Amino acid sequence: MATATQTVAVDPNVNHFVAKPRRLLIGGKWVDAASGKTFPTYNPATGEVLAHVAEGDKEDIDRAVAAARAAFDRGPWRRLTPAERGRLMWRLADLVEARLEEFAQLESLDNGKPVVMARLADIPISVDTLRYYAGWATKVEGSTIPLSMQPEWKFLAYTLRETIGVVGQIIPWNFPMVMATLKLGPALAVGCTVVLKPAEQTPLTALLLGELIQEAGFPDGVINIIPGYGSTAGAALCAHPLVDKIAFTGSTEVGKLIVHAATGNLKKLSLELGGKSPNIVFKDAEIDSAIPGAANAIFFNQGEVCVAGSRLYVEDAQFDKVVDGVSKIASSLRIGPGMDTTTQIGPLISQEQLARVCGYLESGYTEGAKAATGGKRHGEKGYFVEPTVLVNTNDKMKVVREEIFGPVVTVMPFSDVDDLIAKANNTPYGLGAGVWTRDIKKAHRIAAELRAGTVWINCYGVLDPAMPFGGYKQSGWGREMGRQMLDLYTETKSVCTPIT
Ligand code: ADP
Ligand code: MG
Repeated sequence: MATATQTVAVDPNVNHFVAKPRRLLIGGKWVDAASGKTFPTYNPATGEVLAHVAEGDKEDIDRAVAAARAAFDRGPWRRLTPAERGRLMWRLADLVEARLEEFAQLESLDNGKPVVMARLADIPISVDTLRYYAGWATKVEGSTIPLSMQPEWKFLAYTLRETIGVVGQIIPWNFPMVMATLKLGPALAVGCTVVLKPAEQTPLTALLLGELIQEAGFPDGVINIIPGYGSTAGAALCAHPLVDKIAFTGSTEVGKLIVHAATGNLKKLSLELGGKSPNIVFKDAEIDSAIPGAANAIFFNQGEVCVAGSRLYVEDAQFDKVVDGVSKIASSLRIGPGMDTTTQIGPLISQEQLARVCGYLESGYTEGAKAATGGKRHGEKGYFVEPTVLVNTNDKMKVVREEIFGPVVTVMPFSDVDDLIAKANNTPYGLGAGVWTRDIKKAHRIAAELRAGTVWINCYGVLDPAMPFGGYKQSGWGREMGRQMLDLYTETKSVCTPIT
């Protein structure tokens, strides 16, 4: 069925933004890389260069950390009241909201995702995230503690929650703006200063955000933005002796490199890493919502989602129906450039990611998996892959064990619940999980048994800045979002004195 395409006319401000090389934000100024080098960022729908960006490296990281250090140790930022910090953050959120369409287009062009999703989800969520954390600025409290030792004296003991210091933040390419605001939000709320390194595939929205950070009036050096590659700029940030903490979202493989790099000054780490999340449909589920739920759990954002429901387990009696239903949805999704408003599945991020996902499909076929629908690259230009449902799969296969990070779901039947839970937990990851059933006792029992940071019952992928998020096992360290962020961005100081 042919539907007319509806390509969005690129906003003149966006054209202007990509027309000239973008620079680094250091100490409140836009500057070139010390090396003078730039690198290209591509439009994944065409494979063509979208913009050139200054390529940050060790020397630039050194300059940015010095600026962040000075802003933290001596700058006016320290003297702002919590309410003033919150107001600046709220102002930044307002500025982003006023230019929502530009951000949505830039995100779609740089990442490939449907502009409709960027308008509805990525950018509004980013605005909400900044506002959520703006509210936290005035709510960072310690506690008073009754002591039991030395009963002959009376003590006043209390805790202070103090800002951790200079934070390096390294983010991935799948939700560039959401990741940038999710990282900046808690750091700014508690008074940290930041060096942010966006992913080399998608630096543009973070750089536009940088312009608004300037406009909002954050003191110089509070937020520094250094685009560049992971093995150069990223590695230099992680190893830097004057950085107090690294917050990272990305692959488990790179997470481990960061742990090593951070040993020099034992900087604090929070890591949000990969996943291979089980999504479990029982025969007593409301099948008409479980089927679209399971499809959305994997195909949203082209499957480039760390919590994607990539292992679908379905109870025997409903297996055929669910495979059929999810396959029908998969084959009906419109594949196309993100800037076409009828597109539901955009391109993958890069040539490399396309090769990776196609390599996984090949390995699946070699090990005996079959595609119920999809199963290959779509078209010749751009990095498109068909939404794919793999059956005849089992827990020994690479496609079931490893994170594919593309629109590929493996579906497996189950009959015994204990065996199912063992299988669901038989993974080095533990980020998300889904359970679909009408039986509330079973739902909550299984939610408790799944070793994952978030469990969704009769829904999937619902995230909110107020709800703690993070992983068990090799899916990471720490919980971002919600009040849990205090554990990541503050130090607790105990103060104690006799008062009699
Ligand atoms: P992906 O493989 O999906 O691109 P990565 O984990 O490689 O995910 O990338 C996530 C982020 O980590 C990006 O900003 C990337 O530049 C950065 N990165 C990659 N390698 C390193 C490294 N050795 N040290 C620090 N950051 C890195
Ligand atoms: Mg790009």
